[in-house]
Amino acid sequence: MTDDSAQNPVSEAGRDFIRDIVAADLAAGKHKSVVTRFPPEPNGYLHLGHAKSICLNFGIAEEFGGHCNLRFDDTNPAKEEQEYIDAIQRDVKWLGFDWGKNLHYASDYFEQLYGWAQHLIKNGKAYVDDQTQEQMRLTRGTLTEPGQNSPFRERSADENLDLFAKMRAGEFPNGARVLRAKIDMSSGNINLRDPVLYRILHAHHPRTGTAWNIYPSYDFAHGQSDAIEHVTHSICTLEFEDHRPLYDWCLESLPVPSKPHQYEFARLNMTYTLLSKRVLTELVRGNHVTGWDDPRMPTLAGMQRRGIPAEALRDFIKRIGVAKANSTVDISMFDFSVRETLNKTAMRRMAVLHPLKVVIENYPEGQVEELDAVNHPEDESRGSRKIPFGRELFIEQDDFMEEPPKKFFRMAPGREVRLRYGYFVTCKGVVKNARGNVIELRCTYDPATRGGNAPDGRKVKATIHWVAAASAVPAEVRVYDQLFSDPQPDPANFAAQLNPKSLEIVSAMLEPALASDNSDDAVQFERQGYFCRDKDSAPGKLVFNRTVGLRDSYARISAAG
Ligand code: ATP
Ligand code: MG
Repeated sequence: MTDDSAQNPVSEAGRDFIRDIVAADLAAGKHKSVVTRFPPEPNGYLHLGHAKSICLNFGIAEEFGGHCNLRFDDTNPAKEEQEYIDAIQRDVKWLGFDWGKNLHYASDYFEQLYGWAQHLIKNGKAYVDDQTQEQMRLTRGTLTEPGQNSPFRERSADENLDLFAKMRAGEFPNGARVLRAKIDMSSGNINLRDPVLYRILHAHHPRTGTAWNIYPSYDFAHGQSDAIEHVTHSICTLEFEDHRPLYDWCLESLPVPSKPHQYEFARLNMTYTLLSKRVLTELVRGNHVTGWDDPRMPTLAGMQRRGIPAEALRDFIKRIGVAKANSTVDISMFDFSVRETLNKTAMRRMAVLHPLKVVIENYPEGQVEELDAVNHPEDESRGSRKIPFGRELFIEQDDFMEEPPKKFFRMAPGREVRLRYGYFVTCKGVVKNARGNVIELRCTYDPATRGGNAPDGRKVKATIHWVAAASAVPAEVRVYDQLFSDPQPDPANFAAQLNPKSLEIVSAMLEPALASDNSDDAVQFERQGYFCRDKDSAPGKLVFNRTVGLRDSYARISAAG
C-alpha cells in the first residue's frame, strides 16, 4: 500500500457524499490509503448499473491514490459459471479500469471463513439448525411480530462443531441443515433474526470443484472478505442498508484483520430499461434477444456491440452522480452522453437506409468523378476522402415527396436541392411502378455547382445525402430501438412489455469507404445517426448496428441548407 493520498488532490468536479467521506477519513488519518472493491457475483453479465458501481469504486481508488480490488463473490455455484467470470473481466477492462494484481475470489477465503464460523460456534454465536426452510420462514416473524427461537438453538458447541464438520464433509443432503448466527429472534431488523451463515449445496464450483459441500451466505462472506482484503470503504447499493448491522455484527464477533465500513448509495435505474440480472438472464434464456451481447441489452457487452464508446458510459455516470435516494434516470440522458461523445469522435460517412433511385439525365453515361468529403466537420486533422459521383444515385425515400406539404423543403417535382459534397440537382419527373409507387426520380444537375454552391448565388433550402449507385455497397443495417415499450417496465411481467419494433432490419446502400474502413468504431451516417459494424459481418456481407439516432436531424440539416 502506498501513502501518496495526501499528494493526490481530488478533482472538485464529481464530488459526492461518498467521496466526501473518503476525503474526510483520509484527512483525519483514519486510513493511510483508500481500498475499495467491486464485488460481482459471476451469475450473469455486467450491466449499466454495475458500470455505476465500477466507476465509483475504481474511480475513488484512482482519484485518492489507493486501489480497487476486483472480487468475485462466487459463493453460489448453483448459478455461477466460468463464462461469466471471463465476461466480467473483459467488460471491466473495456470500461477502462484495471485491477492490476488485485484480483480476488471469495472462494479463496472458504477455509478462513469456515474457521471463523467454527469460532462463532465455540463462542456460542452460531448453531446448526435442522429445521426445514419452510419451518424457518414460518418462525421468522414479521415486521410487527417477533420470531420464535428454533428448537435447535441451544445445542452445545461440541454438537454444533460436529454437525458443521459433517455438513462440510457432505454427509447430509441439500437443505437438510444450515448454520445460523445466534443473534436475536425478536430483533426489529429481520436480518438479525438468526440469519443463515452456511447452507448445504452439492454442486460443482467453477474454482473449487467438489471440495466443498457447504457454501457461505452473502452476509457471512462479504464483510469478512472485505476485512481480509483490508478494504476501507465497502460501497454497495441501498438494499444492503438493512444488512449493515449484520455486517458489523460479524466483524465485531470475529478476530478479523481489519474493520471495513459499509456505505450505501442509490442504485441506477433508467427508463425503458431493466437492470436486473434475473430479468436479463430470462431475456437470454427465453430467446427474447440473441444473447447477452444483443445490442438492445443494457449489458456492457451489448452496449459495446451497439457501438457505444466506454467514454460515453463514463461520461453518463459522471453526469448522473451518486446519491443516497433512489430515482430513475431518463434514458434521454444516456443517449445525450452517447451523442456528445460520438459527435466528437465519429467519422462522417454517407449511407442511404431506404434507397430511392435517381437518374441524372444530363450526366454522361459511364462517367465517374470523385468529390471531396470531409471526415469530420469540426476536426480538420481527420482529413478527407473521395466519394464517387455518377449518373445513377440513391437518395433516401423520405427525402422525396411527390406532393410536398408546406414545410417540406427536400426533393419534390420541379424542386432544386443540394446533394451533400456534390451538385445542385432538380427533379424533372418520376417513374412509377404498376401500383403507382414512385420507384425512380429523373433529375438534372447543374455542372456549375460542383462543391455545393451556385456561382450566381441562388440558394436551395435543403441538402440531402446520397450514394452513387455504381459503387454503392449493400449492407444489412439493424436499426435498434428501446427493448421495452413501457417507460417503467415491470420486472414481473417484462415479456408482455417487449417493444415489437425494437429491431428493424433494412437493406441499405453505403458509400464505398464504409466497406474499406477497417474499424469497429461507430461512424456517423450523415443526417441519420451513429452506426457501427457488427461482428456478424463477413467478406462480402456487411452488417451495421445503429448505435443511436441523431436528434432533430431534419430540422438542423434543412436550416443549414
Ligand atoms: P442484479 O440486481 O442485477 O441482480 P446484483 O446486485 O445481484 O445485480 P452483483 O453482481 O451482486 O449483482 O453486483 C455487484 C455490485 O454491483 C454490487 O455492489 C451491487 O450493489 C452493484 N450494483 C448492482 N446493480 C446496480 C445498479 N443498478 N446500480 C448501481 N450498482 C449496482
Ligand atoms: Mg448481489
